[in-house]
Amino acid sequence: PLVLGIETSCDETGVGIVRGRTLLADAVASSVDEHARYGGVVPEVASRAHLEAMVPTIRRALRTAGVQASDLDGIAVTAGPGLAGALLVGVSAAKAYAYALGKPLYGVNHLASHICVDQLEHGALPEPTMALLVSGGHSSLLLAPDITGDVRPLGATIDDAAGEAFDKVARVLGLGFPGGPAIDRHAREGDPAAIAFPRGLTGGRDPLYDFSFSGLKTAVARWVEGRRKEGLEVPVADVAASFQEAVADVLTRKAVRACKDHGVDHLMIGGGVAANSRLRAMAQRRCEDAGIRLRVPRPGLCTDNGAMVAALGAEMVARGRAASDLDLPADSSLPVTQVSMPGRADRD
Ligand code: ATP
Ligand code: MG
Ligand code: FE
Repeated sequence: PLVLGIETSCDETGVGIVRGRTLLADAVASSVDEHARYGGVVPEVASRAHLEAMVPTIRRALRTAGVQASDLDGIAVTAGPGLAGALLVGVSAAKAYAYALGKPLYGVNHLASHICVDQLEHGALPEPTMALLVSGGHSSLLLAPDITGDVRPLGATIDDAAGEAFDKVARVLGLGFPGGPAIDRHAREGDPAAIAFPRGLTGGRDPLYDFSFSGLKTAVARWVEGRRKEGLEVPVADVAASFQEAVADVLTRKAVRACKDHGVDHLMIGGGVAANSRLRAMAQRRCEDAGIRLRVPRPGLCTDNGAMVAALGAEMVARGRAASDLDLPADSSLPVTQVSMPGRADRD
C-alpha cells in the first residue's frame, strides 16, 4: 500500500511516503532553531511553525516520491503522545486531506512508529519484537507480539527519559539545545572511564527492566559544580563521554537481559537517543556477545520524522486493520500500549 504519514508531535514537521516497506520520501522541516534560544521546545512556537510548514512539506514529499495524492491508499498521522497544539495541526491536516481525497485515515501512536520505522531499512520485524524505545520523552523496554496492535511494557523510566537526561546534562555543560547530538560529538574526544558516574537501578534488588536517569543527571551536575567551585576547568569531553557511557551501559545491559529472559533473539532500538553513536556501538558488541541480532534505524530515522508514521500506517493497511473515524481526536498523553486511535465514537 502507498501511504503518506504526517508527524507533528514536537518540533519536527515530518511528512513521509512509503510503498509497503519501501521509503519513497522523507520530508522534515524543523523549528529547532527557533527554540534553541529558549533552551527547550516552546509549544506555541512549535504549533505555529507546523502550521506554516505543513502544506509545503506535504507537497515536497509528494514531489520527491513522484506520486499523486489521488494514488494514496491511506493517510496516517501521529495522534499522540506529544504537545497538544502541535498534534492538532497534523491531525487536522490529515483529516482535511483524507476527507478531500476520500482516503482512509489512520491515527497512530508516535512511540509505536519509532519502532515500526526500522522495517523501512531492515525488512519485516520479527514478532514478538523486543524494542528499547529511548527518546526525548520516553524510555521503555517493550515486548510487542503484534507491532500494529499489541505492545506490552516490560519496564520504563521511573523519572527522566534518556533524551531528557542528555538535554539536561548538555545544559549543565553549556552545550546548548538539543543536547544529545552535542554530547555525542564532544564525547568522541573524551575518556569514557574518566569519571565513574552512577548506573541507576542496577542493584541486585532493583527492578530488572526499569530505568532511572535523574540520579545520574544530578551526579553530573554536582561533579561539574564542584570543579567550578574549586576554580578548576571542566573537562567537557570527559564529562560527556563518562555520562554517555553510563547511559549506554544501563540501557544495553537491561535490553540484552530482557531479550535473554524472554527468549527473543533480536533487539530493536528506536527513538532519538538511538541515534547516539556510543549506544549503537555498545549495543552492537553486547548483542553479538549474546547471540542477539541488533536492529537500529539510521540516525536520521531515529529522530522524529514522517516516514515512521507512514511505515506504521502502511503496516496497518497491509494487515487490514480498522481505519480511524474523521472525528479522530489528538491525545497528548496517549499510552504506549495504544498503537492506534479509532475515533471518538469507539472510545470509552
Ligand atoms: P518522544 O518520542 O518521547 O515523544 P521526542 O519525539 O521529542 O520525544 P525524539 O525526537 O524521538 O524525541 O528524540 C529527541 C531526543 O533524542 C532529544 O532528547 C535529543 O537530545 C536526543 N538525541 C538526538 N540525537 C542524539 C544523539 N546522537 N545522542 C543522544 N541523544 C540524542
Ligand atoms: Mg525534535
Ligand atoms: Fe519521538
